[in-house]
Amino acid sequence: MPGLYIHIPFCKQLCSYCDFYFSVSLARTAEMLNCMMKEMDIRASKGEQLYGTPEPCTLYFGGGTPTVYRAGELKRLSEKAVSLFFPQSPSEWTVEANPDDLTEDYLRQLAETGVNRLSIGIQSFIDRDLQAMRRRHSARQAAESVRRAKGAGFGNISIDLIYGFPGMSLKEWEYCLDRALELNVEHISAYHLSIESKTVLGKLRDRGEFSPVDDRLSDLQYKMLERKLQDAGYVHYEISNFALPGFFSRHNSAYWNRGQYIGIGPSAHSYDGKCTRKSNVANNIRYIESISRGVVPETVETLSEKDIYNESLITSLRTAHGLDLNTVPEIFRAGFLKKAARYLNSGRMTYTGRYYAIPSQYFLISDSIISDFIEVDC
Ligand code: SF4
Repeated sequence: MPGLYIHIPFCKQLCSYCDFYFSVSLARTAEMLNCMMKEMDIRASKGEQLYGTPEPCTLYFGGGTPTVYRAGELKRLSEKAVSLFFPQSPSEWTVEANPDDLTEDYLRQLAETGVNRLSIGIQSFIDRDLQAMRRRHSARQAAESVRRAKGAGFGNISIDLIYGFPGMSLKEWEYCLDRALELNVEHISAYHLSIESKTVLGKLRDRGEFSPVDDRLSDLQYKMLERKLQDAGYVHYEISNFALPGFFSRHNSAYWNRGQYIGIGPSAHSYDGKCTRKSNVANNIRYIESISRGVVPETVETLSEKDIYNESLITSLRTAHGLDLNTVPEIFRAGFLKKAARYLNSGRMTYTGRYYAIPSQYFLISDSIISDFIEVDC
């Protein structure tokens, strides 16, 4: 299922763990909006489209913080996208949102605009950790935003949580999961904290101001996450994603299945579903200058058969359904099967039909398993 992603490159505040591209200066939001509209015009005039498919396509506004824009401004972007690229209305239109932006009025306007899925960045239900993460909201505000979204009619809500956060005990993680389950949302994304060097947390760690959690606690938190959410009826369908049946993220599932997508905005990526990937410049000023001259500031990469194979390993082996053997090119198949046999013997891989998968109890070490399969240049 092809999709269109719009990256809104602004945030009101810098979260301590974040390494996405955005600017905290909101001075050029209006100009940026016009440039993203223009980028869509340029791409459409060059013949880019979401390929014909019987399935409706998906629309996803991520960031950054899409909710820095008014609902009417998001509507302008969506109308342009749908008129230029979509054969029919999107089946799923997701907007990522920060809890403190979700007033009753704003939620009502989003619902009227046609947004049918919200992804709310809650991250934690412990105020101490929210402050350490430099989030703009409290635990109470986060829970209230979900209740307001339900009141506004949203029936497909995802929330983000972070575990493996320094100082968070197993008991506290259990408390967060219980608060999340009380909200009865359709989808939960739970990410183990990854500390990147350029982030605020990365710098604090490098100065020795805190230590990352040890592997044992990470493992216990992961096991608790999986058990509690599965007991509550959620399907663990990707390493960090759980959904009630029928509520898997269609947009993100297309990424994991190597579907086609078009990316709009600074730092957004596009992929034609075959061998061409495009990456927009991750710089608001350079993006605006280039689009104003009628040029999309992108780098284009042609993927080799090996690149495509390696990428499919990385994406599909993080999902519950796993890797389809039929997608493994002939040239890599013998090597794949030889290594897979070892993992099948040790129980760290399963084979059903034509799919090889990593059982979810080993998802946390999936990086080391996947890296064993990656084909490298000699
Ligand atoms: S709001 Fe989201 S994108 Fe912005 S800094 Fe925080 S985590 Fe990053």
